[in-house]
Amino acid sequence: MTVLLKNAVLLDSVRNNETADVLVTDSTITAIGRDLGPADREFDLSGCTLLPTFIDAHVHVAVDDNAFREDAIRAWAYNGVSTVRELGMLSQLSQADYAKWIETVNSQPETATVVAVGNYIDVAGGYGAGPNPNHPVGTLITTAEEAAEEVSLHHKLGYPGIKIGIHDGRMDLTPHLSPEMAKAICDRAREDGMWVAAHIGICRGAQFMQDAGVPDLAHTPSDPMPDEMIRFMAENGVVMDTTVGDPDKAMEPPPGMLMPGGPGGPGGPGGDAPMGPPPGMVMPSPEEKRKQWKTMVENLGRYHRAGGRVVIGTDLIHSRDFMKDAVIPVPELRALTGAGFTLQETIAAGTITAAEVVRASTKAGRRRNNFFMVV
Ligand SMILES: [Zn+2]
Repeated sequence: MTVLLKNAVLLDSVRNNETADVLVTDSTITAIGRDLGPADREFDLSGCTLLPTFIDAHVHVAVDDNAFREDAIRAWAYNGVSTVRELGMLSQLSQADYAKWIETVNSQPETATVVAVGNYIDVAGGYGAGPNPNHPVGTLITTAEEAAEEVSLHHKLGYPGIKIGIHDGRMDLTPHLSPEMAKAICDRAREDGMWVAAHIGICRGAQFMQDAGVPDLAHTPSDPMPDEMIRFMAENGVVMDTTVGDPDKAMEPPPGMLMPGGPGGPGGPGGDAPMGPPPGMVMPSPEEKRKQWKTMVENLGRYHRAGGRVVIGTDLIHSRDFMKDAVIPVPELRALTGAGFTLQETIAAGTITAAEVVRASTKAGRRRNNFFMVV
């Protein structure tokens, strides 16, 4: 079955509002240009713009007991995000069951493709250790050997990547992976053909992960990155996820910080009112948040100018008000153009570059209509 979409305005990582025809064979774009017909069906799209669908390289779908919810991945697909990379379960459900669920939903046409890491790998008490509800849940290890074995276990379950993290604002006060453990995780992941993404908040954590050989920072540091760090990361192909968010949106505690047994906790009295941030988490004031946002955008611009790879990531967490946010990540895109990316470079960070990083391009492109129409 061939479909010809005629006279559409195309906006992607190469074309800047170029009018052309698009030939779709089954569900794959097979040609873009002029005089591509005849086709089985033809539509005149004069006045419409076609965008590629986007990849959100940092989200959380598996949250508490909502781990296997199709509404989330259906909403993304419907709103122009055809692939999401889930960086760490915030759920105590089995990661073996979760891997099976992903395999099933990834074979369906109406849902976003999910690329995931399963549980964090961490030491007891670490950033990604758990077991607080709706907070990163980790598989706990005690030695570098165990850490490496755990990577291979994730690999056997079908996860293409690993997530680790460090509470870098409180690094001296909280347990975390040793440098040897972090390095063992990266080494084994490389052997197994997997990537490793690391939660960091500031340059101190970024430096720790850089020393361990982590190829992907799941966040942009919120303090100014030293030139040397920028140079080293860019030269070594390290990827940085944007996660700058919307500076004008009120800062809320991460959703669902519900303490079991307390007011609002699962099974506790008082409905499901959030209990506020977990111990040790300090929420920045609106002024601080805006300042951090500005620094992150500056870091992204400097990293880009140094040749570093940047991908769009929102860190969106599947929660009660999720549906309105599961859309093309406009605040992230806007931040990149503000950081000096061209329009085409901005789109690339949410499409082609992200596809390389999450290694989902071929599959996602072949199986789904990989474009999105704005009327
Ligand atoms: Zn996250």
